[in-house]
Amino acid sequence: APDGANKKTSRVRVAVRLRPYMGKQDEKGEGPCVRGLDSQNLEIINWRNAMETVKYHFDVFHDEKTTQQEVFVSSVKPILPHILNGQNASVFAYGPTGAGKTHTMLGSSEQLGVIPHAVQEVFSLVKAKDVEDGWDYSIGMSYLEIYNEKVLDLLSPGSQDLSIREDKDKNILIPGLTHTTISSFSDFEKHFIPASLNRTTASTKLNHRSSRSHAILLIKVVRTQRTFPHRQQTGKLYLVDLAGSEDNRRTGNQGIRLKESGAINLSLFTLSKVVDSLNSGTAIRVPYRDSKLTRLLQDSLGGSAHSVMITNIAPEYKYYFDTFNALNFAAKSKLI
Ligand code: ADP
Ligand code: MG
Repeated sequence: APDGANKKTSRVRVAVRLRPYMGKQDEKGEGPCVRGLDSQNLEIINWRNAMETVKYHFDVFHDEKTTQQEVFVSSVKPILPHILNGQNASVFAYGPTGAGKTHTMLGSSEQLGVIPHAVQEVFSLVKAKDVEDGWDYSIGMSYLEIYNEKVLDLLSPGSQDLSIREDKDKNILIPGLTHTTISSFSDFEKHFIPASLNRTTASTKLNHRSSRSHAILLIKVVRTQRTFPHRQQTGKLYLVDLAGSEDNRRTGNQGIRLKESGAINLSLFTLSKVVDSLNSGTAIRVPYRDSKLTRLLQDSLGGSAHSVMITNIAPEYKYYFDTFNALNFAAKSKLI
């Protein structure tokens, strides 16, 4: 049967987060070109085109005052209990470079993002469960990047392109990918922090390698029934900082950069088709296999999985067209 056919699929929740204005009010009086209306609605204003405005509606709109903690609690925390029950989940940060994806996912030591909050929460959920039910839990992690349609292991620097496989139960696997058991949050940090720094950098006019690849953290919770140890369930949580969604034609890309742009366009375009197919509920075929990113996420996006896409946008006018495109991508994705 084609992927996703005749199966009930869950929709992807779509949130938009606006970061604070960081530009200067210039002489033309161009302030922020994005305005929040309420907790679900916003509008963008085209200062250079007769103040034309376009309004958008989403599942959630996080305005520029929203804290890291609030984003986590509203968009991510509710899905975490499911991964202890053997279900899968995914969280993506989408949007142009500079709009706050890494801030949202990773944050800083003063303002922890979704990743540290989520990992801490998974540890505390497991701790609370361990005493009350008949399962033993174990937590593990993998960390990888998709760059130019190549799957690279960030926990094993210098590794070759890995292949994505599917087992007979339709679970997606990456043979050879490092998977490390972690027993505490500091254990997680010990592996994650150096690996984050491993993401090599090569500058272009607008950005660098970390903006040109998808960084994917996998947290896997395996539980084993105490009285029937052969009874095991696995829940996976993917936390994804996507490559920048900006129009790559503007970055003056040539050669290798052009190849990167092609790969990014392919995976983000396929992601939009997948999310659109899932959310429109009319899909006969969900095109997971058209890119490495969507193929990898196949068992954790749609089906019984819980997914949220956080679209990050910036309010300065220089981002106007990227913002417009990102919101149209996200608005299409939320179509019920
Ligand atoms: P991206 O990963 O999408 O390229 P970044 O996360 O690197 O964007 O954000 C660009 C800049 O804006 C960084 O300096 C970041 O710290 C800052 N920033 C992003 N979002 C926020 C926010 N919500 N509050 C404060 N600063 C932010
Ligand atoms: Mg980034």
